[in-house]
Amino acid sequence: MRAIEMVDLKIQYQNLKPEINFAIEKVLLKSDFINGFEVHYFAENLRNFLQVPYLVPCANGTDALQLALMVLDLPPKSEIIIPSFSYIAAAEVVAFLGFIPVFADVETDTFNIDCSKIEALITEKTKAIIPVHLFGQACDMLKIIKIAQKYNLFIIEDNAQSLGAEFVFPDAMRKKLGTIGHIGTTSFFPSKNLGCYGDGGAVFTHDEVLAQKLKMLANHGQKIKYKHELVGINSRLDTILNVKLKYLEKFNNKRAEHAAFYFQNLQSISGITLPFLAKNSTHVFHQFTLKTERRDELAAFLKTKNIPTMVYYPFALHLQPAFEKYNFSKDLAESEKLCQSVLSLPMHPDLEKDQLGYICDSIKAFFC
Ligand SMILES: *Cc1c(COP(=O)(O)O)cnc(C)c1O
Repeated sequence: MRAIEMVDLKIQYQNLKPEINFAIEKVLLKSDFINGFEVHYFAENLRNFLQVPYLVPCANGTDALQLALMVLDLPPKSEIIIPSFSYIAAAEVVAFLGFIPVFADVETDTFNIDCSKIEALITEKTKAIIPVHLFGQACDMLKIIKIAQKYNLFIIEDNAQSLGAEFVFPDAMRKKLGTIGHIGTTSFFPSKNLGCYGDGGAVFTHDEVLAQKLKMLANHGQKIKYKHELVGINSRLDTILNVKLKYLEKFNNKRAEHAAFYFQNLQSISGITLPFLAKNSTHVFHQFTLKTERRDELAAFLKTKNIPTMVYYPFALHLQPAFEKYNFSKDLAESEKLCQSVLSLPMHPDLEKDQLGYICDSIKAFFC
């Protein structure tokens, strides 16, 4: 059996080697590294995949969120609602840009922002909500849209972890996550479902005016070279992603197959709660995250079996020292509880049946 990794990019490269090497060589031969033909071609392909009219590639997923917040021209100290159980990026750019992060608790089953907690956090300074589609599954966009319309808020969807997943509306219509709110963002960090060789990200929208401005902001605020109309940043994509975009759906399906294996083989264990499948979303299993009271013990046991696991995330955002100076809601208990009980199992498209079987048998051995 091959050694088990959380995300095995080496085996993925081995499997795609001729195509990847060919793509890299093409760029090297043209010396067309930054915002070159490959990048434009990729942006166009991803735009088609997402069915969104405008897409601006940028340097990483954190920049994508920063650009999305910059483009809205919000007044200083605007309050932005974000989940308290999540990756740091959204909260960080909110604070970095001089806005106020307002943390909302998450749901215990989906791990996503708890929409029933949002309205209590809204003041006249609230300007936007950043739902984060965590671990591969959608936030309740219907509820978020309702709240945003009622209070005239922008919606920025952080779709770094759920590229390819779809929200399922009550009439069964589906939309790719990231294309439902005003602006969507994503990341191509190597371990993401669509990972590049290096850093990368993108920001996308249905709004032509926002799109033109996003493009300028990502390029030093210029439309015409050396004419800087806005204070922008330098955020460029410079990587090989076209090869893997072709396989994104296949890879996401593989993840779902592996998740089905985990579900089938772990469902009888009483000490763990398996991931919840929301009816209003498809799931692309960026992570397969279970909950158990004996989290640290289980992780240590699996480590002795050479099975890696990860805790996403060990600390709730409102308890991070970096955000100490902000007031926050007292109602964030679920986020804190999850930080004690979540454990993510190895998940990537190239997991093999013998590896999955070994992981499940080891977990059973621990609980029996
Ligand atoms: C990875 C990630 C980001 C940031 O992406 P980078 O490319 O690493 O900057 C933002 N939000 C979430 C939820 C992420 O998982």
